[in-house]
Amino acid sequence: MALRIYNTYTNSVEAFKPLADSKVKMYVCGPTVYNYFHIGNARPLLMFDIFRRYLMYRGYDVRYVVNITDIDDKIIRSANEEKTSTAEVAAKYTQAYFEDCEKLGIRNPDVSPKATDHIDDMIELVKKLVDQGIAYPAEGDVFYDVKKLPQYGKLSGKKIDDLKSGARVEVDKRKKDPLDFVLWKAAKPGEPSWESPWGKGRPGWHLECSVMSMKYLGNTFDIHAGGVDLIFPHHENEIAQSEGATGTRFVNYWMHNGFLNVDGEKMAKSAGNFFTAREILEKYKPEVIRMFFLLKHYRSPIDFSEERIHESQQALSRINSTLANIDIALKEFQPDAKKINGSTIINNLREQFLAALDDDFNTANAMAKIFEMVREANIIMSAEQIQQRDLEALLRIKNTILEFNEFLGIIESEQNKISEVEQKVYLDILVEVRQKLREQKNWKLADFIRDRLVEKGIELEDRKDKTVWKKF
Ligand code: AMP
Ligand code: ZN
Repeated sequence: MALRIYNTYTNSVEAFKPLADSKVKMYVCGPTVYNYFHIGNARPLLMFDIFRRYLMYRGYDVRYVVNITDIDDKIIRSANEEKTSTAEVAAKYTQAYFEDCEKLGIRNPDVSPKATDHIDDMIELVKKLVDQGIAYPAEGDVFYDVKKLPQYGKLSGKKIDDLKSGARVEVDKRKKDPLDFVLWKAAKPGEPSWESPWGKGRPGWHLECSVMSMKYLGNTFDIHAGGVDLIFPHHENEIAQSEGATGTRFVNYWMHNGFLNVDGEKMAKSAGNFFTAREILEKYKPEVIRMFFLLKHYRSPIDFSEERIHESQQALSRINSTLANIDIALKEFQPDAKKINGSTIINNLREQFLAALDDDFNTANAMAKIFEMVREANIIMSAEQIQQRDLEALLRIKNTILEFNEFLGIIESEQNKISEVEQKVYLDILVEVRQKLREQKNWKLADFIRDRLVEKGIELEDRKDKTVWKKF
């Protein structure tokens, strides 16, 4: 069965057809780096990374972009509270974001563009809209004229008139229509700002995502994702901006994850009902958190509770202990490679697992198939005597689970653990050697080491007393 995705734009499950046959271009709205992200924010980061990896497993060449909003009202507020600059707040929490993602087993996106690195592109897009009469400046701000886009409201399924009566829209006399939204904000005293044709100012949040997604994925791309709260106004406004400027369709598939709730209410910083991913990771292994999210379909709401996490922990232990027992059972086993594909039950479960994921990434149903495989293995192992073909089935189960783990990331691999420790040892040695080279003023070779490491995704930071490395 081919992959089908629920598309918020059409309100239906559709066959997935990427623009280019084997390539998928995917964008996820990333964090606003003003604080540590909470475990609710982790849901889209974690699930969409799993889907990206599943697409890769299915043979697609995926280009995956997750932006970083590093200028915004909340960052300005944090900077004032922490008595520091917005740049410092953003740098601190950007680093924390990467650290927490790594701990959660979320792979780095292909591109993590920062808003402040794309201000010129944003000004260009606003200019285009103003030139076309779709946007209008007003006292240093620039507004989008929603009346100019007949399909405004299509994504959220709202009509302009309903939106006006239903939504709490800011009253601003300078707006032609109450729903017009800001593209560019005039500078306020003490806030960071950039020169623009409309005076000093900064970009609006919706603009950032339009610009960065199109820059790295093209004017039209395959998948744009984020939480359901982003449908309106964020994604609606992104469509307005992008389609207004380019005249072509912006995104083919809009995907939205459901909320992580606490007592039925969305986990949110503003509600104060949140736990940071860091806090949770102090108590639970990342694999448990991944399991917790995988046990539910990404569009369903999940209630957060320690009890639920314990259930995920137990589910994970069931898989791990079965895998460990399989290893014991297989210790003396010399497999006949040709026969390993033999078991019909396992092959069926394997197909059902993939079919579940192809059905709008239904991880809940897919995980049920993993548990059936585990049950099957336990039945085999409970027999008094294990036949040769049973051992083949056990090996098949183990290999299948480990193969799927490539994108699920729920099984801690011994190999991974060793290689991470080794990696640290070798990197520390390289840093030390480079330090010696610098002491001998052999800058060329020292720079060579740094440049080669950067190519591999390792950044060196020369501090006063020592050099530290970090992955980016
Ligand atoms: P924010 O920092 O609020 O812009 O959120 C960043 C991402 O996390 C967005 O895709 C949000 O939709 C998503 N998000 C925020 N809160 C939750 C939650 N409680 N459950 C699931 N996703 C969330
Ligand atoms: Zn966005």
